[in-house]
Amino acid sequence: MPIRVLFGAGTVSQLAAEVERLGAKRALLISTPGRADMVRSVAKELKVAGIFDQAVMHTPLAAVEAARTLAKSLDADCCIAVGGGSTIGFGKAIALTSSLPVLAVPTTYSGSEMTNIWGISEGGAKKTGRDVKVLPKTVIYDPQLTLDLPERTSAASGMNAIAHCAEALYAHDGNPIVSFMAEEGIRALASALPLIVQAPRDLEARTSALYGSWLAGMTIATTGNGLHHKLCHVLGGFGLPHAETHSVILPHALRYNSVAGEAMRRIARAMRVGDAPSGIWELEQRLGLPMRLADIGMKQADLERAARIAVQAPYPNPRPVEFAPVLELLHNAFEGNKP
Ligand code: NAD
Repeated sequence: MPIRVLFGAGTVSQLAAEVERLGAKRALLISTPGRADMVRSVAKELKVAGIFDQAVMHTPLAAVEAARTLAKSLDADCCIAVGGGSTIGFGKAIALTSSLPVLAVPTTYSGSEMTNIWGISEGGAKKTGRDVKVLPKTVIYDPQLTLDLPERTSAASGMNAIAHCAEALYAHDGNPIVSFMAEEGIRALASALPLIVQAPRDLEARTSALYGSWLAGMTIATTGNGLHHKLCHVLGGFGLPHAETHSVILPHALRYNSVAGEAMRRIARAMRVGDAPSGIWELEQRLGLPMRLADIGMKQADLERAARIAVQAPYPNPRPVEFAPVLELLHNAFEGNKP
């Protein structure tokens, strides 16, 4: 990957040197409203052109346009996105139309910083695409910045990363190197997340989870999405929260795709369990995550419409994507049945 990566506790202290390395002098900081103070303090050694602190989930077009206008009016020459997938999504959206270099400092486990995938939503639908322009030039993974990420957000975000790895293991365009990274990513995350929910400031567990999310981002960046990611994308259009949706759907999507025997064996091996879908389900229960689509805002009346949208356009998946079994999957996820 043509990305320069710094990894380890304390690496964010090198932010100013990394900005200089990019030849930038007028950086635009990007954050969510709640994290603006933290982002300012991370960048205190830098001369910045300004801050856009209105990043929100699913990168709505109106907010993206405000961010692009600000970047232009400040004559920014680089974007520094400090935060989760939502914040990094704004850096990518600016880069998509301006080619400004992005420096990402991820503080969740979304993996977005490693991908060339962008997404912008408008009127309840999210458009996504792949473009090398949005790939960050530099990524700084500093686990110290993740110590305050709340337990539940950490757990859900970690399951989002495990989902990237799991689907890479049965992707139609996968390869042995990606599978190796995917299995290692699942191992790192599945062992770190239970420690993090017990002791969120455990730096060793945080380091391991961030390493797992780096691997996860690399796997999704280089393979096509299957049923799981497509279904979560559809459910995002119904206003469901991103990471929690991945968490609820994953065990059911894996059961649907259990024909992918080698992938299931590798997921189970990485987690040290006998069966991948039920092992994932049990891990999520242990992490205290919501287990039912009903708990995260889905309406029963919308399940059929979601299943219909999910089967509209064909795409490669280990098992054919068909309406009746997809609807059954959604019912099981809605009720939180053990897969
Ligand atoms: P998020 O970025 O919305 O963050 C969740 C919440 O945690 C926010 O309120 C944020 O301010 C807060 N937060 C983040 N870091 C924190 C920290 N260290 N301490 C305390 N609070 C912190 O959630 P996410 O799951 O990381 O990202 C979801 C978004 O990312 C979605 O829009 C999704 O589509 C996108 N995404 C994109 C890709 C890609 O490859 N393009 C991959 C995964 C996710």
